[in-house]
Amino acid sequence: MLSRLLVWSILAGVTLAGALLVVRSDHVSFWRQWIRQWTGGAETYSEIRFQVDLVDRLNYGRISARLPLLKLDEGLENWLEEHFPQMALDDINAVSARVQEAMPRYYRVAVCAVSGPSLRAILDEFQDFREQQLPEMTHLACVVRPQTGGFSRQALLVVGQRLQEFNPENLTAEMEDAYFSSCLHCRHPHIVRAVKKRHSLGLECPQCRRTYAVVASDENGVFRYANEFLTGYAPPAVFSKDQSRVHELFTIWTAVHDNCRYVKDPVEGKVSTDTWQTSLETQRLGQGDCEDSAIYLCDWLLTRGFQARVVLGRFGDLGGHAWVVVKLDDKEYLLESTEGRPDPANPPMASRVGSRYVPEVMFDRHAIFVRSTPGQAWKGDYWSAKYWTRIEPRSLLPDTEMSAPSVARTTRPDPAVAPFMELEEIPRDATEWRMNSDIGREIPAASR
Ligand SMILES: [Zn+2]
Repeated sequence: MLSRLLVWSILAGVTLAGALLVVRSDHVSFWRQWIRQWTGGAETYSEIRFQVDLVDRLNYGRISARLPLLKLDEGLENWLEEHFPQMALDDINAVSARVQEAMPRYYRVAVCAVSGPSLRAILDEFQDFREQQLPEMTHLACVVRPQTGGFSRQALLVVGQRLQEFNPENLTAEMEDAYFSSCLHCRHPHIVRAVKKRHSLGLECPQCRRTYAVVASDENGVFRYANEFLTGYAPPAVFSKDQSRVHELFTIWTAVHDNCRYVKDPVEGKVSTDTWQTSLETQRLGQGDCEDSAIYLCDWLLTRGFQARVVLGRFGDLGGHAWVVVKLDDKEYLLESTEGRPDPANPPMASRVGSRYVPEVMFDRHAIFVRSTPGQAWKGDYWSAKYWTRIEPRSLLPDTEMSAPSVARTTRPDPAVAPFMELEEIPRDATEWRMNSDIGREIPAASR
């Protein structure tokens, strides 16, 4: 009997203690909830909900004003989360300048700092922030911190115009004229102003003052990097097997001269509106200006295994020009694709004809080569690493949101549009051409 009573009393004790615990914890959470609700409601209205509502509310206003929607910028948000806790807000212009310095992709930045008793109150304040309604704004980020000593909070909203990455695809697709880019020599981030009407443009770094990219558009307004105009196309043609390499070089050079009529760049007002052609287009049209015929010649030579590059630079006082350089048996040939006629008796050694030709940039299929000492007189070597810096335009992809580059490459010529290249007019007498390659062998001492 006594033992049974003991068991019952223990059971009752345990139950009572449990019930008391439940009441106590309910009590605590009730008070906690009451305080939180009164001070801003961390549990009933979370910061995540606040962020979502903020983006929704701002964009709701933009939809009715027919403006593009603002996107949340995670990179900007991460930066703010790291720096906002210690940030002084007494000078809001300084905050704006600091954000812009840390985020060079932003062309324009507007910041708004608000303190309030609750996140809902802050949300209402932000809705009246005028800058978020500017049409050019693209992105936003917002961070919250508790205000020292009190129940209220402080929030910082940053709205800005984040520029698109500079690349030929964006230049083709977008109407924008300002882009963000980083120099491929010194990595300096900067804003590029692109005038699409110009059709071809070299990008010069504002810090190191060197060219790091050349883009041009074709006649359809599609931009590519200069080297991507060398699509790997060669006209279908038959070469005799006993030809020397010099003979083959002259054969191709002569065929380009015979099949590509030189036409000048069109000029609209004072702006040259020159578009570029791929080799296939130049062959189909049977005409082109200097860079069109140079690209045509270079692409063919590359396909036949020559070391060749298209060179952009100045010719005497005549200004901008393009030509081709070829390295064969340790000799450098400078091939003019626009005028004159290839003369096998007079091999065009780069060192001999080169003084009037001042190169600035050259390219093959994969890279552009930029002069280490731009603007200076030229008597150097086209293949020297001392004078040239090699840059692959697609090598630096600083942004993961960039789409995979869509590069047009003509791998198989369409017989319907690429007529068989007639090499009829090229001297078939191999001995005559061999003789000329012998001349080439005799000159080096005098010309180099
Ligand atoms: Zn630079």
